[in-house]
Amino acid sequence: MKLDFNDDSSLTVALTGMGVIQALKDDELEGSYVYKRDFSKVASPVNEAEFTFESFSKQLAEKKVNIKSMLVGKNALVVGLSNNAFQDIIFRTKIHPKRKASDLSEDERRSLYDMIKLVISERIQLGGKDQFTDIYGRQGQYTPAMGSNMSEKTCLVCGTRIEKLNLGGGQVYLCPKCQK
Ligand SMILES: [Zn+2]
Repeated sequence: MKLDFNDDSSLTVALTGMGVIQALKDDELEGSYVYKRDFSKVASPVNEAEFTFESFSKQLAEKKVNIKSMLVGKNALVVGLSNNAFQDIIFRTKIHPKRKASDLSEDERRSLYDMIKLVISERIQLGGKDQFTDIYGRQGQYTPAMGSNMSEKTCLVCGTRIEKLNLGGGQVYLCPKCQK
């Protein structure tokens, strides 16, 4: 889909696999199942005003649940992070995927917060992941630091063989040495 605006800017969306594109007026949003599920009341990591470190840190510290359920899925405290983005983010912050949110130190919560913002902005600036193309056929330039692309490989940081876990209804790749 390509949407042209009056100021000559445009928005393009390319769907891979399953998805939906809806054109709605503001007053129709509340009736939209997709909007209510994914966007209402949950902070967006690209919105500075909604996604603050104070709020993020406080919510993590209070929850004795797995870190993945706080970042991905219907109970997440940010909207829009995929299982792949999760693997990338926690590898780059050296956090083990089985950690509980409430067990993270203040420093770890800070680096997690900073890394979420960094990974999202890098993915946007580089035109998305390298396994996808946009509507013009241009390939994304972002290569995830961790994820299924690292299957059967060794860690680029320490050389340890990458492991795979089943976690929260999906597979999570990790470096057992770098991630604690
Ligand atoms: Zn490693």
